[in-house]
Amino acid sequence: MKAAAFRYARATSAAHAQALLAEHGEDARLLAGGQSLLAALNLRLSEPAILIDIGRIGHAAIEARDGRLRLSALATHAAIGRSAAVAEAAPMLAQAVPHIAHPAIRNRGTIGGSLALGDPAAEWPACALALNAEIVLASAARGERRVSAEDFFLGLYSTACAADEMVLAAEFPATAPNERQVCLELARRRGDYALVGVAASAKLEGGRISGLRAAFFGVGATPVLAREASRAAEGATVAEAARAAADALGRDLDPPGDPTTDGATRLRLARVLMRRAVEAMAA
Ligand SMILES: Cc1cc2nc3c(=O)[nH]c(=O)nc-3n(C[C@H](O)[C@H](O)[C@H](O)COP(=O)(O)OP(=O)(O)OC[C@H]3O[C@@H](n4cnc5c(N)ncnc54)[C@H](O)[C@@H]3O)c2cc1C
Repeated sequence: MKAAAFRYARATSAAHAQALLAEHGEDARLLAGGQSLLAALNLRLSEPAILIDIGRIGHAAIEARDGRLRLSALATHAAIGRSAAVAEAAPMLAQAVPHIAHPAIRNRGTIGGSLALGDPAAEWPACALALNAEIVLASAARGERRVSAEDFFLGLYSTACAADEMVLAAEFPATAPNERQVCLELARRRGDYALVGVAASAKLEGGRISGLRAAFFGVGATPVLAREASRAAEGATVAEAARAAADALGRDLDPPGDPTTDGATRLRLARVLMRRAVEAMAA
């Protein structure tokens, strides 16, 4: 199938993109890496009247400053994976990159596009949730605002980014002393979207786990923060925490089934990943 006819505008700056969004609203779509949008256009799942190409507005910087890591919207998955600043400030993100699709897609796809899309099986939304990131949004009418990842992912492919807004950046707190981070997933084939994945961080002090934040992806309409698992693991030794958090997951997750994998199987896989994640933090 081919995309329906659309007009094309190349934004020259973020402000220009926001002005075009203000003008066209729901009729417009931003084009970033195009790795999800072009497929949606060709399948006619999306039929915007106008595409606003933001590929040349800059905004691809990766900066660690004042205890924060800022990934601008057009930072590609590949650039994030290569960044020494990312590996140091938020090692979970560096671990996530090899799980995202294939090198060609990682060279074009952007973190802003992934967050704005809000695919529940994608890695960046879960990492943002696990690390309590803030998404920086901007519009011509209201200027900049910040939304915590906990409030950003509203439902299936639905986020707090309004039709006249764009994602400008995502900001992550830099990893704290004694903090450990992991991103693990299970997929049928390398490069496929995850059947189930987990992005998790916790502190490890004196052999005990505290402050576990585990965000699961591929288990529902949005990434899901496993709060009961966190409570169950608090203050426990690594082995106890791994077991208790995995056991508690049944109260956090109720994954839907699909024709290939039923919900009970996904929950079982999530428990396996939870155990592995806690154990990996101690390794
Ligand atoms: C074969 C294949 C496998 C894939 N596997 C994975 C995977 O395993 N994990 C994964 O996470 N992803 C996967 N992807 C998706 C890929 O990571 C995309 O790059 C990503 O989801 C979207 O980024 P993009 O820059 O390409 O956005 P685009 O495709 O350009 O845009 C996606 C959506 O976001 C909107 N948008 C883009 N940028 C902004 C912005 N700054 N502000 C507001 N809205 C914006 C667009 O209007 C569009 O609606 C896969 C894609 C393919 C084709």
